[in-house]
Amino acid sequence: MQVQKSFEQHQTGTLYLIPTPIGNLQDISQRALAALAEVDLIAAEDTRHTQQLLNHFEITTKQTSFHEHNWQHKIPELIGILQAGQSIGQVSDAGMPSISDPGKELVAAAIAADIPVVPLPGPSAGIVALIASGLVPQPFYFHGFLPRKKNEQVAELAKLKERRETVILYEAPHRLIFTLSNLVKVIGSDRSLVVARELTKRYEEFLRGTAGEILGWVQSHPVRGEFVIMIAGNSAPDVTESEEEILPVVEAVEQLVAQGLKPNAAIKQIARERQLERQSVYRAYHQLEEES
Ligand code: SAM
Repeated sequence: MQVQKSFEQHQTGTLYLIPTPIGNLQDISQRALAALAEVDLIAAEDTRHTQQLLNHFEITTKQTSFHEHNWQHKIPELIGILQAGQSIGQVSDAGMPSISDPGKELVAAAIAADIPVVPLPGPSAGIVALIASGLVPQPFYFHGFLPRKKNEQVAELAKLKERRETVILYEAPHRLIFTLSNLVKVIGSDRSLVVARELTKRYEEFLRGTAGEILGWVQSHPVRGEFVIMIAGNSAPDVTESEEEILPVVEAVEQLVAQGLKPNAAIKQIARERQLERQSVYRAYHQLEEES
């Protein structure tokens, strides 16, 4: 076990996790600005992007890049800097580091090396969207981005369909119609949905309605900007969580197939989730099909 006293004297430097605006520059806190100015080094997802923010606030701190393609070889270097007593501020392009963004591996490495990890509060698109959605704000389930491949996305949506909590998703503009179409097919067109667009920016918009209505809207309007999708929780899920756990294997496969997944993809998913041989799930499913 480990006890971190964030603001006591340490032999090492501190890793600060610094949120940045999700659109509106005025959303950066005084404390975030002070941290950006005072750390020895900023580890940024995209140094050119962060440089614009630093220039705007006349901050001259040196930067190094830290993103999803270089984190493995950057972490030892950054931990070495922290162990030598220097402080680092980690930022992503927008919002909270580590939330659908780079960061978590650096946090884990710093904790493992007994380096204090200090988070600063600030904007995160999912939470900002949630509080104005009009949907039940808690409990909520933050999922972030869905898988890109259709089969995997449909399988994930089939699981999300049963959740009682409000579900929060991130999606890129060029994939919004694809994802909402799958959502309508799997979850149905009647479920309440809210889509928040361009939060904190000039063209901020909230679309509140049923999944079917919102799909219709995005199909007939230009899809530009950044989006958070929120799905109202399922007030009458098909199965309780404990029933779901004990649902027989074949029924579990059939349920996914009924939700639109191809049999082989459903078999693969159930085998993976239950840590079974894929062949044995395949045999059980097809045997029962032949009998019926
Ligand atoms: N770390 C960020 C956070 O804390 O929210 C999320 C970064 S993730 C790479 C980018 C996604 O967040 C976008 O595709 C979009 O789904 C969502 N997002 C970010 N800024 C947004 C905004 N201003 N309005 C709506 N959604 C936004």
